[in-house]
Amino acid sequence: MNDFAQTIENTSSRGERVAAKAALRRTFAIISHPDAGKTTLTEKLLLFGGAIQLAGTVKARKASRHATSDWMEIEKQRGISVASSVMQFPFREHVVNLLDTPGHQDFSEDTYRVLTAVDSALMVIDAAKGVETQTVKLLDVCRLRDTPIITFMNKMDREARDPMELLDEVESVLKIQCAPVTWPIGMGKRFRGVYHLLRDSILLFQPGQESRNQAMEVIEGLDNPQMDERFGDQARELRDEVELVRGASHPFKLEAFLAGRQTPVFFGSAINNFGVREILDALVDWAPGPQPRQTTTRAVKPDEEKFTGFVFKIQANMDPQHRDRIAFLRVCSGRFERGMRIRHLRMNRDIQISNAITFMAQEREQVEEAYAGDIIGLHNHGNIQIGDSFSLGEALQFTGVPYFAPELFRRVRIKNPIKVKQLHKGLQQLAEEGATQVFKPLNGGDLVLGAVGVLQFEVVAHRLKAEYGVDAVFEPVNTHTARWISCSDARVLADFEKKLADQLAHDGAGNLAYLASSRVNLELTQERWPQVTFHATREHA
Ligand code: GDP
Repeated sequence: MNDFAQTIENTSSRGERVAAKAALRRTFAIISHPDAGKTTLTEKLLLFGGAIQLAGTVKARKASRHATSDWMEIEKQRGISVASSVMQFPFREHVVNLLDTPGHQDFSEDTYRVLTAVDSALMVIDAAKGVETQTVKLLDVCRLRDTPIITFMNKMDREARDPMELLDEVESVLKIQCAPVTWPIGMGKRFRGVYHLLRDSILLFQPGQESRNQAMEVIEGLDNPQMDERFGDQARELRDEVELVRGASHPFKLEAFLAGRQTPVFFGSAINNFGVREILDALVDWAPGPQPRQTTTRAVKPDEEKFTGFVFKIQANMDPQHRDRIAFLRVCSGRFERGMRIRHLRMNRDIQISNAITFMAQEREQVEEAYAGDIIGLHNHGNIQIGDSFSLGEALQFTGVPYFAPELFRRVRIKNPIKVKQLHKGLQQLAEEGATQVFKPLNGGDLVLGAVGVLQFEVVAHRLKAEYGVDAVFEPVNTHTARWISCSDARVLADFEKKLADQLAHDGAGNLAYLASSRVNLELTQERWPQVTFHATREHA
């Protein structure tokens, strides 16, 4: 046991223990565009954490997830995706919680909401491609809470774009300052490694390093004659380049990183396990531990003794017949123990949690204890919703777990009108799970579904049939985006509702929303109704 761990063990007061345990947590998610290397990097991070022994495990899972569109498969995959939703592993006496952000076809609102439950994010960029669309969207969500971002420029073992140009692109497109921490030496076939600007050392690249135990060769100091022996002219080039980089880029500032204004940038190659350790070091050394969380009444600090937490995701469990769901709860303070009674604040009822699950090493295990920053899974039958808060009795409601304005819309029709009741019930429940959003037009037209990823519609159609016996047809609808409406002047609001009834709807929770046919339409309507506020996100009830 090291000194720090021993200190914690020796700490007598329960409060101090809770504080010390919480401080060791690092909870983060990876944001990236499909194919940038998220899966590969996740796997290497788990290898470093000793959570998996063999490379290829995560990738195999990904392949099975996407190889088929057979819906029976989706049912099976639900079990797998529950297990992979959160991956907890140890690193340097810390406990790292990596939250999966569903991407690719299963990109959904969950992808966004996961980002509200982390304290930092790792942005992975394909160095040959630069900043891509999905990364832009995800970073926008991170910005809602000024989440600190670490950047990894991946695939340097391939021909990539000029590193300086990549930094410029991140700065101009994503509007965040870049502070290079490592700098690549060559790329593609001439990729030699990286120079660590803060440690003044050169990490040498050897392709194909798959396991964490292989020691990396390091040359200390840029002026080290070993450099010249090894690299000849390339050493001189590097020295010149580093001088240039130091002059032209921002030095790393912890404070700016923590405020979400600056991102430390690392170059490497996930598939070769190169540069991965440096990211984990940055996560442990620089990324924040659990942050205080705002509620409607006060901010809850992670080192408070009493347990609190909120639910940011609901996932239907394997067996659709049982309607068993797992609610993902982020612990915000205190210590959670097995068998604990906690108060479900929306329902104002105490519930005993005897079978919460944790996500150690990819396997679901029974939770013995959890601290701020940790995620636990709670089995339930639909009585827990996204945004629900839990405590030991104090009435508080965490904020900051929003619904996001959908970007895709479909009109719902049913083949058999007799089933309309089941349709409504099914959609209501699926909306509560966050699988889709439902809009009921004021003028009584067909229900409109909203989503941020196309697969959401397919999953909803499939589950309506399988679980509610409803055959639904989804048709295109002339809606481009939605905005939730608020207005302090009741008369203006009534007028707004009357004049624009054809474009207004109530969402699943009864909130008024404006369904805009285009971006221009939205802008014009906003201009015409200056007293009305149009919200792109809505807090959970
Ligand atoms: P994801 O879609 O972001 O999860 O990306 P994957 O991890 O599945 O990677 C996409 C593709 O890029 C796969 O074929 C990987 O083998 C490949 N890849 C990932 N990292 C690297 C890298 O460092 N170098 C090279 N050359 N290929 C990589």
